[in-house]
Amino acid sequence: MNQATLQKQDWTWVGRFVAVIVVALILASAIGSMDLFAKTFVIDGKLSASHLVRFLGYSTALGALWMLGQRATIALQKHGGRWSFMQHLILPVVTLIVVASTNSIALLVLKPMMNASLNNIYNWVFIVGIVGCAVWVVMAVLGQSASLTEAFTSAAGRISATNKAKICAACGTENEPSAKFCKQCAKKLSDTAAA
Ligand SMILES: [Zn+2]
Repeated sequence: MNQATLQKQDWTWVGRFVAVIVVALILASAIGSMDLFAKTFVIDGKLSASHLVRFLGYSTALGALWMLGQRATIALQKHGGRWSFMQHLILPVVTLIVVASTNSIALLVLKPMMNASLNNIYNWVFIVGIVGCAVWVVMAVLGQSASLTEAFTSAAGRISATNKAKICAACGTENEPSAKFCKQCAKKLSDTAAA
């Protein structure tokens, strides 16, 4: 097996995921628009079988899209070649799409059951989620995710290093790291006594 067929085989699963997404979307909207489903109600006048079918179909498509994003990220980490820079971008972008679409898809079945205040909470959950994902995308685009993590961990390391209290050798009192004399017994604190 040569390199070309190997790479071709590695990516055929993408087509399967795309097929699942497309078929789920088509079936959901086709069955959902049938009179039988549109005029049969689970909750009278509010929640129809059409709502349920579309909810199931669209959420299946979204689930497949998210799994596709996850598998693509893993595949790019292993053998992305010149596309490996995409590995940090795919998951944030796909998650943003999934979260934004989940908002309206979940409303298909949740709307009849929510009052105004619940609806408001629901909206805020998604606003926070979407903004969070958008920030994630921006960070990924800037390529700062890794260096930010590094900055945070080194800052935390510095803080814990400087926060070591000076224990007085004479009375055992904990003093500020910068203290020269013990606040309890006023003996001189040596730097080596830091614990
Ligand atoms: Zn002391």
